Amino acid sequence: MTKLRIGNGYDIHRLVSDRPLILGGVQIPHELGLLGHSDADVLTHAIMDAMLGALSLGDIGHYFPPSDPQWAGADSLVLLTKVHQLIQDQGWQVGNIDSVVVAERPKLKPHIHKMRDKLATVLALQPNQIGIKATTNEKLGPEGREEGICAYAVVLLLEA
Ligand code: MG
Repeated sequence: MTKLRIGNGYDIHRLVSDRPLILGGVQIPHELGLLGHSDADVLTHAIMDAMLGALSLGDIGHYFPPSDPQWAGADSLVLLTKVHQLIQDQGWQVGNIDSVVVAERPKLKPHIHKMRDKLATVLALQPNQIGIKATTNEKLGPEGREEGICAYAVVLLLEA
């Protein structure tokens, strides 16, 4: 029987002016962007944490510490490539991913297929192995007040 592992990930970043908004590797036109040491791509960060969590390999802060200048402004898809390599080195592959991005604005639906394609390319998956859903927070809490955007992800790994 195929061995399975499951992991979950969560991330939130603060919305500020003068930063690009990058989600799932896609730059989305908006007057606010996410603040962070890297490109602050919360969706990709949540997915990476879920992949690492599935193998009890710690979290992305361990591999890409904010204190390390080499990750300043880093493209999170590059970090995802490294995490993907790590799980492959351990003998695992991604079965599927499901995720949710919580953002009051902008409307993410028009960009989801592009995010899926980008993540699928990096992870050598079919786009239909990657679920990305977008929801508002009904104006409640920090996401609802547009103070930040968060993402949740679940990843199933299969023994390669
Ligand atoms: Mg993060």
